[in-house]
Amino acid sequence: MSPVRPGTIGFLGAGQMAEAMARGFVKAGLCKPEDITAYDPWDVRRQVFEEFGAKAVTTNGEVVRASETVFVSVKPNYVSTVLEETSGDLSPDQLIVSIAAGVPLEKIEAAACKSSKVPCVRVMPNTPCLVGAAACAYAAGKHVSEANGKRVEELFGAIGVIRKVPENLLDAVTGLSGSGPAYVYLAIEAMADGGVAAGLPRDVALPLAAQTVMGAAKMVLETGQHPGALKDNVCSPGGTTIAGVRALEKNGVRSAFIEGVNAAADRAREMS
Ligand code: NAD
Repeated sequence: MSPVRPGTIGFLGAGQMAEAMARGFVKAGLCKPEDITAYDPWDVRRQVFEEFGAKAVTTNGEVVRASETVFVSVKPNYVSTVLEETSGDLSPDQLIVSIAAGVPLEKIEAAACKSSKVPCVRVMPNTPCLVGAAACAYAAGKHVSEANGKRVEELFGAIGVIRKVPENLLDAVTGLSGSGPAYVYLAIEAMADGGVAAGLPRDVALPLAAQTVMGAAKMVLETGQHPGALKDNVCSPGGTTIAGVRALEKNGVRSAFIEGVNAAADRAREMS
């Protein structure tokens, strides 16, 4: 087996998440479009990859033979199939990155390491991958080196943030950042409704609500200040903001978010 070219990236499954990651890696300058190879049985998805200059091939085997880092980006029930199909072409110099929700490393390794000890990692991404603002966590399998871990952090760091966690915490990650965009969509929609109730036109209220959430998130990430301190800074005595905070607290806003994250984490545990 001839060694694969360093820096090359492959996708087993060229769906929404694969496209978001591939575009993100190219945009961040981590690779050129021609360094990417993808296979999908659906020709529409192969065309999407070809249109931005990546190579779309006709088998998963071709992806594995062409790529140093191989993303498993099929739905969870196809993970074992695509890995078993290609394991004969995998070598310890490659890196398998599965983004499939709920598929344990043990199962990924059992399918990928049939003929050699291939390093495998499991990543829990979220949909803001599509806009380069992902929040991801990963767990490393038994054959993963420090250099493999660095590569994972470099790749996902280009499309958002990534943290390493023990595998048993990935269900909690699913509850927080995996499912979290939906909670924030609810909050944005509800804030916009509040703005409309207070008299704003919808087309003014919605962008103001979304930008407020993005701005507050940037304040937390960029100032490094605790969110409680940032909240205190904007609550003047007897003012408007503390009146709003008081009403939110009376309606259990904190508890609602805590229970939401925990319910999703519990559900992820049940499903994995
Ligand atoms: P998707 O349906 O857009 O992509 C999956 C692709 O796999 C499809 O295009 C399908 O044609 C292709 N496929 C089916 N069988 C195949 C095979 N044998 N070989 C190669 N390709 C095959 O799904 P997605 O939303 O991109 O999700 C992909 C993975 O990402 C899933 O495992 C999911 O659990 C994980 N994930 C998704 C999200 C999300 O929000 N979408 C978040 C976290 C994790």
